[in-house]
Amino acid sequence: MKNLTLGIFGGTFNPIHLGHEAMIDAFLKAIAPDKMLVIPNAQPPHKEISHLATEEDRLTMLELALADRACHIDRRELLRSGKSYTFETLRSLREEYPKDRFVLLVGADSLLSFEKWVHFEEILNQTELAVFERGGISGGEDEPLRKEAKRLEEKYGAKISLIEARIPSVSSTIVRQRAAAGMDLSDLVSPLVGEYLKKKNLYLDPTEMTRQKNAYGISLPDAENLAKKVLSPKRAYHSLCVAKMAGQLAEAAGTDPVLAAIAGCLHDLYREESAESILQKADKYGIVTVDLFSLPEALLHSKAGSRLLQKEYQICQTICDAVDSHTEGAADMSLLSEILFVSDAVSEDRTYADAPFARELAKKDLHAATAYIFDYMTETLGVRMTENSKNGAAFYARSRAK
Ligand code: ATP
Repeated sequence: MKNLTLGIFGGTFNPIHLGHEAMIDAFLKAIAPDKMLVIPNAQPPHKEISHLATEEDRLTMLELALADRACHIDRRELLRSGKSYTFETLRSLREEYPKDRFVLLVGADSLLSFEKWVHFEEILNQTELAVFERGGISGGEDEPLRKEAKRLEEKYGAKISLIEARIPSVSSTIVRQRAAAGMDLSDLVSPLVGEYLKKKNLYLDPTEMTRQKNAYGISLPDAENLAKKVLSPKRAYHSLCVAKMAGQLAEAAGTDPVLAAIAGCLHDLYREESAESILQKADKYGIVTVDLFSLPEALLHSKAGSRLLQKEYQICQTICDAVDSHTEGAADMSLLSEILFVSDAVSEDRTYADAPFARELAKKDLHAATAYIFDYMTETLGVRMTENSKNGAAFYARSRAK
């Protein structure tokens, strides 16, 4: 019988993310193993983890993520319980596969600390290593990763291949941090894993939820639920897309992504309410001023909505101000207002021809994207510009010219 090649991928998978999935895909393509084993740790030996999801949840997410791939999820470390040492796992695999070739998948960070693994020499005797670049640890000629691989090969007779592949720079830590705050995870985990995390509120941090409620008037998950409750499915979807974009643009601009995402969820909360109902509510809360009556109807949901958000839901002033200007824009907007104005125009549900260009521009240069959107409103959409829009267009055109 011919010897088999076994791919072995051990990890905490707390949770599995797009980086892990890309590693498996690249490995299957590059090495084409006869069998691919994915082995979740019971407890990782090398690191303390503050929020370890249950074994059942980690297993379910592995199953959801890997359902379409030729992988076998192997539970031996979970059954063994206690700290999961790779040398023990390899010993037990050796009993089943005495003559076969083992190849262990590891990230560059793991290779650089490989000599700290318990019985690492035994591990190197038993298995080859397939290494992936990670977090700026590059595998180029004369780079630390290649040098370390060479050193381990020379010193211990290790067999190491560097798998060249673009692996997203995701970590389970980032997934847990974002999930703790209730933020979007769609660029970090695959859709089914994202749904599962959300449905079970995995890693969601109650203390953080209280902080958000105190700081902003509402937590991000509650803001999402409010948008879903009040709006039609299509409008709610748009609001969640704006929230996602606003969170990303805020992160890129070095400002609070949670605040921006909440503003995104709530920006259109009054969009589907009739003018009559909005004005009645405004009357009830004592915020009817002449300017509300004289407004074009298209602006009512932002101009009256911003004040109603404060009265009906006690949303913080910073968010209300951003909602106020999100439709027509203004000159010299606050960073959050600008982020919301741009996100509303470039969110991923927007399908106009220039949307992909505008999205990329927004990620690179927020002011330039703001100027671009004012131009687009006048030149392509033929929107009749309000005074605020004209001032905004002039202001951002000047800032672009500088
Ligand atoms: P945490 O952030 O909790 O430390 P992690 O993202 O490193 O977790 P693990 O399940 O511990 O995930 O990773 C298992 C193996 O996969 C490790 O060898 C790790 O180096 C590697 N790995 C994980 N993510 C990547 C990635 N984005 N690129 C390259 N290697 C990765």
